[in-house]
Amino acid sequence: MMNMESKLLNVMEKGPSQKFVSTVLSFGLRSPLTRRHIVDALERATYKMSFKSLERPDKVKEERYYMGSALLRSIERAFESKSISPKCMKALTDILIGKIMVEGVYIRHTFKDKHGFSPPSFVTISPTNVCNLKCKGCYAGDIYQKHTLKYDVLDRVITDIKEQFGAYFFVISGGEPFAYRESEKTLLDIIEKHSDSFFMAYTNSTLITKDVSKRLGELGNFSPAISVEGFEAETDARRGEGTYKRIMEAMNNLQAEGVPFGISVTPTRDNADLLLSDEFLEFYFNKRGAIYGWYFQYMPIGRKPDFDLMVTPEQRYRMLNRIWSVVKEQKLFIGDFWNSGTASDGCMAAARGGGYFYIMWDGTITPCVFIPFKDKEYGNLYKIYENGETVVDAIKSPLFTHIRDWQDGYWVKQPQHRCGNLLTPCAIRDNSEAFYNIIGETGAIPTDAGAEDYLRMIEQGKMPEYNRQYRAYTDPLWEREYLRKGDSGKIA
Ligand code: SF4
Repeated sequence: MMNMESKLLNVMEKGPSQKFVSTVLSFGLRSPLTRRHIVDALERATYKMSFKSLERPDKVKEERYYMGSALLRSIERAFESKSISPKCMKALTDILIGKIMVEGVYIRHTFKDKHGFSPPSFVTISPTNVCNLKCKGCYAGDIYQKHTLKYDVLDRVITDIKEQFGAYFFVISGGEPFAYRESEKTLLDIIEKHSDSFFMAYTNSTLITKDVSKRLGELGNFSPAISVEGFEAETDARRGEGTYKRIMEAMNNLQAEGVPFGISVTPTRDNADLLLSDEFLEFYFNKRGAIYGWYFQYMPIGRKPDFDLMVTPEQRYRMLNRIWSVVKEQKLFIGDFWNSGTASDGCMAAARGGGYFYIMWDGTITPCVFIPFKDKEYGNLYKIYENGETVVDAIKSPLFTHIRDWQDGYWVKQPQHRCGNLLTPCAIRDNSEAFYNIIGETGAIPTDAGAEDYLRMIEQGKMPEYNRQYRAYTDPLWEREYLRKGDSGKIA
């Protein structure tokens, strides 16, 4: 197995033997006899890579490893319970090894040589704001005018992103991704056309019928992250009566076809404890077979932003500790957009190397799903294409560049001992005053009324005070356990 481990490491670093690894993974993982050895070897390779690749404090590297390990063990469990089909696994390994780790690495190196910075690793696209549900407070829900990206533009931008950035992973959001209809094409057509890429979609799942699941199982390069609010009562209260039962049916359909799925939740002040309870995790991860979970703490943007729905600083700190204990001890792959900053190497916005950016239903381009501001010149994909420009021009915009400069000064280009606090990594949420200045300096444009409301929350001092209170929890922890200044201690 040491030989396999060094092969894996070799691929992660240089990528010369992808065929070997891809084949070993897709066949070897199916057999209970070889699966454990392969996952063990992958875990050891992940450990070495975590410590090799970053100029960050050791505890940050350690947490990257823990997150990678949780993902591997989650995949292993999915195989054991037969909830991931060989076809899906083959697509996943072929794309991960052949495309993302080999071809993608080559394209990214070439990009960096040419442009002086590394490109993003993935892009989130919301092809439509149409949705078949009317969930309370949904950020897409207040848009009276319906928008859908033209199919040829969607197809073109995905092609461009692959060719220019070497990014073969796409996150699809909405609206409801399965409600996308344009030029008689659907989301399934895009997934099929770009079979060299892997797609994950945030979905309410109610349109995932038996037929849709069957097709997804045949395609193999897709996984849905299904939105839930808790159990039946909480889910139906926000998403409408009967939604929970439809979600359970969709999960049954997906499992029958071996399509791996996860869940996505929005913790608020009212439900954060429920969403991290043993009961909730046991149900969705162990009983229902979710492989991963995304936690997006409520952000006061979008429709009628409500500052008081945000988890309190004290709750967020509890969530930080709880999530990491679940990742490390139960090996569940749970990513919290704001509490997993050490695993993601900080804020991923503005197309930073290894990060991402966001394209909306009307072509609006923003640095992040949670940053509702666009550059005044390069803020729309249609306009960029009409001007003969490209996605590379979009990510070189003043807004994106300013945010990347802020990231460089905070941690990206800092030596280990001066690495900024990655427990408060978010440009817009955790560093609201710096963010306010970036918007002012670049003249970036709010994409909706909720974005203007958010600026008022900064001006009124609400967000800066929230930031100060949360830093009072995490700054001492960061200095003590990550930068190792002063006495060592334990996470509370
Ligand atoms: S801006 Fe905030 S939400 Fe967006 S990627 Fe950065 S940390 Fe995450």
